[in-house]
Amino acid sequence: MSDPIAAARADGRTLLTEVESKSQLHEAGIAVTEARLATSANKAVAEAREIGFPVVLKVVSADIAHKSDVGGVALDLGNASAVRNAYSQMMKSVREAAPAASVGGVSVQQMARPGTEVIIGMTTDPQFGAVMMFGLGGIFVEVLKDVAFRIVPLEPRDAKQIIREINGYPVLEGVRGQPAADLAALERMILQVSEFVSDHPEVAELDLNPVIAYPDGAVAVDARVVLAEE
Ligand code: ADP
Ligand code: MG
Repeated sequence: MSDPIAAARADGRTLLTEVESKSQLHEAGIAVTEARLATSANKAVAEAREIGFPVVLKVVSADIAHKSDVGGVALDLGNASAVRNAYSQMMKSVREAAPAASVGGVSVQQMARPGTEVIIGMTTDPQFGAVMMFGLGGIFVEVLKDVAFRIVPLEPRDAKQIIREINGYPVLEGVRGQPAADLAALERMILQVSEFVSDHPEVAELDLNPVIAYPDGAVAVDARVVLAEE
């Protein structure tokens, strides 16, 4: 898969799978948990052994944008039999929840350690063009709409500001015994994404949701790239 964007175009797709999205972002130097495609339970186990347990299995389908909604995410699988069980359960629940989706298999990736979940995204505004979004994960974005925006391309100063503008910023500074997040790593990732979308004008939407932030570094565990209609 040398050029996932070209591959998606050739298929007439605008949604890149997580495997494709991460491979493209990894090439741009963005820290992701590499997602390896496996087309059978046996292959998933083989990949898991190479990656090292615990692992995460996710459904791979260009027809499914939100994998958890269809039972397409299995976390923290500690051994081969857990991977096998998750594989068959996932195929069953995805078939039930999304019967029309064409499923290319599963992706296998490392289970990242817990940290603070944030979202780094990009959408195309009809007036302003590419706009970056930053927020804290989970209810902060979905319920409280606690997000900040900046027009692409971002300068280092914009990356500093977009993080500090959200109401939930104190969470990243560390509260109630929670460690502080590596803000420099988040700023770097925001700037890398800004540069990536500047270099790829055909990308209409991008979501790193979530990025897990640690006291030392940050890693995107989910990624979704959407191309503009041709
Ligand atoms: P969805 O398509 O539903 O957004 P995600 O890939 O984001 O699926 O997975 C759902 C949730 O599972 C994430 O929000 C995150 O909390 C957790 N998760 C996903 N991948 C990993 C991983 N590699 N390590 C740890 N947690 C993960
Ligand atoms: Mg996600």
